[in-house]
Amino acid sequence: MSVAVLIEHHGGQISRPSFEALTLARTLGTPVAVWLGEEPPADAVAQLGEYGAAEVRVAAIGDDARLPAKAATAVAAASADSSVLLVISTFVNKEIVTRVAMSTGAGVVVDAAGAELVDGRVETTQTVFAATWDVRTRIETDRAIVGIRPNTTQAAPAPTAGDATVVGVDVPLPETRERLASVEAVPEEDGVPLAEAPVVVSGGRGTGGDYTLIREFADLLGGAVGASRDATDEGWISHEHMVGQTGTTVTPALYVACGISGAVHHRGGMQASGTIVAINLDPDAPIFEISDFGVVGSLFDVIPQAIERIKQSRES
Ligand SMILES: Cc1cc2nc3c(=O)[nH]c(=O)nc-3n(C[C@H](O)[C@H](O)[C@H](O)COP(=O)(O)OP(=O)(O)OC[C@H]3O[C@@H](n4cnc5c(N)ncnc54)[C@H](O)[C@@H]3O)c2cc1C
Repeated sequence: MSVAVLIEHHGGQISRPSFEALTLARTLGTPVAVWLGEEPPADAVAQLGEYGAAEVRVAAIGDDARLPAKAATAVAAASADSSVLLVISTFVNKEIVTRVAMSTGAGVVVDAAGAELVDGRVETTQTVFAATWDVRTRIETDRAIVGIRPNTTQAAPAPTAGDATVVGVDVPLPETRERLASVEAVPEEDGVPLAEAPVVVSGGRGTGGDYTLIREFADLLGGAVGASRDATDEGWISHEHMVGQTGTTVTPALYVACGISGAVHHRGGMQASGTIVAINLDPDAPIFEISDFGVVGSLFDVIPQAIERIKQSRES
C-alpha cells in the first residue's frame, strides 16, 4: 500500500518531523515522499531514500506552495494513488489537508499521536481536551489523511534503505484570489523551532524576566525556549515562545517548566509532552499535579545545579 508523506523543508533542509513521519509511514505501507516548492537537492533525495521513500514526487510550484489552496491541489495530485496521506500537524498543513479531504472524499484526523492499520483501515490515537482524554479514531473511508504531531514517533532510517526515484508531478494550479506579494524569513531567536523541538525549557513569571538560565539550559539539552503567556505579555520574551491554549501546542519528549504555576491555559499546550519536569518555589503549584518529576526550589538555585550535573555526567 502506498503511503504519501508531505515533506517539510526549509532551504532544501528536511525538518526532523518529516523523518518521523516517514518512519511511521513504513509501518503502514510503502512511503512515497511528496515535495512541494523548488526541486529537492540531491542530498535531500538521498536522505528520503534512507528513510524508506521509494519515490519523491516533486510538484515544482515555487512559492505557490505557501498558499494552502494551491498546495492542496498539488498534494492531491501527487498523492492521488496513495491510500494514506501523512502530514505533520502544523497550522498550514491542517488547512491543506482539509482541502484535500474535501476534494477527494478522504477521512481526515489531525493532531494524531500515532496511526496503525487495523483490519485494513487506519486507526489513530490522539490526546484531546488539554490532554485529559485519549481518543482512538477509525477512518472508515478508503482513503485516509492523518496529521501527525511532531515528537510522537522516534525517527529511524529504514533497515534496507534504497535510492528514491524522483518523479515530476504536473499540477494545473487553480486561480485563487490570494497572490504572494513577498516572502521574508523571520529570524529565529533560539535556533530550534518550538513546535518541533524534542526538548522545551519554558520560563514563566518566576523568572522575573531573566531568561539567561532558561536559554542556557535549553541550549545544553538541544531544546527550544518556551514561555508562559504572563511572561510574553510582560514583554520579557517574544510571543512566538508562548506555550498554551493561545500559544503553541508542544509535545516534546521532555518539557521543563521553570517558575510556571501550571494554569489550565498553559497546561493545554504542553500536557501531552513525554516527560514533564517542574521547578517551582511553591509546593502547591498546580504544575506539580501533572509533573513526572518536580523540584521545589528557586529556578535560580536549581537550574545551575542541574546544568553542572549534566555537564559532569557528560564528561565522565
Ligand atoms: C483566555 C486565556 C487564554 C490564555 N492562554 C494562555 C496560554 O496560551 N499560555 C499561558 O501560559 N497562559 C495563558 N493564559 C494565562 C494563564 O491563565 C496564566 O495566567 C499564566 O499561564 C500564568 O503564567 P505563569 O505561570 O508564568 O505565572 P504565575 O501564575 O504568576 O506563576 C508563577 C509561578 O512562578 C513561581 N515562582 C516564582 N518565583 C520563582 C522562582 N524563583 N523559582 C521557581 N518558581 C518561582 C511561583 O510559585 C508561581 O507558581 C491565558 C489566560 C486566558 C484568560
